[in-house]
Amino acid sequence: MDTIRLHDKTFRRSISCEQLQKAIAEVAARINSDYREKRTPLFVGVLNGSFMFMGELLRHISFDCEVSFVKIASYSGTATTGRVRELIGLSQDIRSRHVILVEDIVDTGASIEYMTGVLKKQGPADIAVATLLFKPECYRKQMPPKYYALSIPDKFIVGFGLDYDQLGRNYKDIYEIADDHE
Ligand code: 5GP
Ligand code: MG
Repeated sequence: MDTIRLHDKTFRRSISCEQLQKAIAEVAARINSDYREKRTPLFVGVLNGSFMFMGELLRHISFDCEVSFVKIASYSGTATTGRVRELIGLSQDIRSRHVILVEDIVDTGASIEYMTGVLKKQGPADIAVATLLFKPECYRKQMPPKYYALSIPDKFIVGFGLDYDQLGRNYKDIYEIADDHE
């Protein structure tokens, strides 16, 4: 399918499943060589968006590893605190572990900065971020993701785990918004 319709918007295919698979295999090869000697690294996926990337990435990982998922819960706090975020679901003790945080997309970098901050307080040996997609034009922080499969322009995309208002996660290709002004 070259275009899809989700809710009120049209999206056109911008990255094929084959391109994604090739780029993910390449990033996995880098992770394999960087982590081969390290003791049982832990992949931590950020739900919901990372589930497809995690699946495809791990098929190429060739060292002993563990896998877990977390979720960011956001809710409105009091008037003074504004939006409150909380990282939920991590059952493992990550002290002295090699943690690889697995994300769908890094845009401004606020989410990964928040999550690595929370995880660092638990004393891991180290934390690296592996993301499927990176939007360098939008990035505003100091620590760009160490591993990314592809960098993309500043366009809203869906597919391969990513959603538009919960729809579109199931598509195997990536689609970009056809008209931002629609
Ligand atoms: P950041 O905190 O880096 O600005 O944004 C990261 C989060 O925003 C991602 O985990 C994702 O949930 C959402 N996001 C950013 N850009 C896109 C996009 O193009 N498409 C979709 N579906 N989500 C996006
Ligand atoms: Mg996300």
